[in-house]
Amino acid sequence: MIYHSTRDEKLTAAPARAVLEGIAPDGGLYVCDPGKLEFDWQGALQKDTMSMAADILGVLLPDFQDMNGLVRASYAGKFASDDLTPLVPVGERYVLELYHGPTSAFKDVALSVLPRLVSAAAKQEGAGDVVILTATSGDTGKAALEGFHDVSGTRIMVFYPAGGVSPVQEAQMVTQEGGNVRVCAIRGNFDDAQTGVKNVFAACKGKDLHGAVLSSANSINIGRLAPQVVYYFRAYADLVQAGRIRVGEKVHFVVPTGNFGDILAGYFAKRMGLPVGRLVCASNANDVLTEFISTGVYDRRRPFYKTTSPSMDILVSSNLERLLFDLSGENDAEVKGYMDVLAKTGKYEVSDAIKAALADQFWGGFCGEAGTSAAIAKYYKENGYLIDTHTAVAANVMEQYRKATGDKTVTVFVSTASPYKFCDHVLRAIGETPAGDGVELLDQLHETTGTAIPRRLAALKGKARRFDLTCEKPGMDSVVLDFLK
Ligand SMILES: *Cc1c(COP(=O)(O)O)cnc(C)c1O
Repeated sequence: MIYHSTRDEKLTAAPARAVLEGIAPDGGLYVCDPGKLEFDWQGALQKDTMSMAADILGVLLPDFQDMNGLVRASYAGKFASDDLTPLVPVGERYVLELYHGPTSAFKDVALSVLPRLVSAAAKQEGAGDVVILTATSGDTGKAALEGFHDVSGTRIMVFYPAGGVSPVQEAQMVTQEGGNVRVCAIRGNFDDAQTGVKNVFAACKGKDLHGAVLSSANSINIGRLAPQVVYYFRAYADLVQAGRIRVGEKVHFVVPTGNFGDILAGYFAKRMGLPVGRLVCASNANDVLTEFISTGVYDRRRPFYKTTSPSMDILVSSNLERLLFDLSGENDAEVKGYMDVLAKTGKYEVSDAIKAALADQFWGGFCGEAGTSAAIAKYYKENGYLIDTHTAVAANVMEQYRKATGDKTVTVFVSTASPYKFCDHVLRAIGETPAGDGVELLDQLHETTGTAIPRRLAALKGKARRFDLTCEKPGMDSVVLDFLK
């Protein structure tokens, strides 16, 4: 089994190599054809989460040894339970809670595993130190720092948009412990940070990096994507076990989307056999994907909005490229064409075949700030259930979908962060006035709602700041070079 670039099928890499490199040398993303994998999905549904994860990762990344041991060691003691991602009935809805890991964001699911994959791949490939460079809109950075800190043979540097993440998220990152970590704010938005990281990768190609290999913890890395496929199977198995569906019945998922990684993992699950119906792509005011799914035109030339769901403040969704590759019938030249036009003009339009496939399998919707707050208030008042701003976007778009289509299929909406990461907005949404603007709001949200503060977030209070670095967009190269020394 071999991976290759979305832009050139001749640029191939074994799975371990693809994990190590993060991105293909031509700027494309490594893909395989998940529809061609031999996978006993019905068998996987019978298993506990750890065995299910080992099966799925074993099929997607077959050249790693002892995937079973790797998966178990990765998650040991990190999540609230060995099930990792509970499916919770709320009223007549189902919520897939993905945020019970060490940093209270769904990215922990993948970033608990990725460091061990990278470390194993480096050994297998005889590579030197692996340096992880990551751009974050808030959650990836902390989850990656937490995953990689003090993992031998690795170092990690995280860039985040200054002022573009929540106070809790910033506190989480700048207090990160570990001897192999560095954190830097950049003056720009998330797209700037992501583009900057891509440029550093390109600039470092072929240069002497003191023996180190650069890699990425963003969801462009296939090692990030693979562990996320698991929770779609877990949720489906839980619905079967609860007697809500029979095996074979379709289930829809509503996914709050930014870089298109989470929802693409759902698409991979579907291609591996799981009976997924529609994948509903929920966006905030940055509605580039909503427009794309309904018109086939991707147009990034639009205002960029800073919203209360910052992990979804994205105009260029990298992983969409992998979907395009699959929907084009694996046409690398076609995908390269779209990406070239996007880079040149900021816009592309897909073929009629892709438009038809999008309409058949996806549905896109977006919601603004008022809709986000209203969804938080509604779930809290009607069900006593607290959701964060990103999850609220999904909840809102799910209702839009039901209204627009009348579709009564069992639908799960995905919850991607603890409400405690976004205390300020959540408090306002439920009618409270935040008394402060930092981590002290954790207590206020706790006292107001009687819900529990995640243990590690509570521990942020009084923790010393370790990083105070800010750079301009063009200055990212030199910050990285300094870190490499
Ligand atoms: C990263 C993130 C998202 C978006 O996920 P993508 O894989 O980038 O689409 C949504 N919600 C939260 C809380 C996140 O951290």
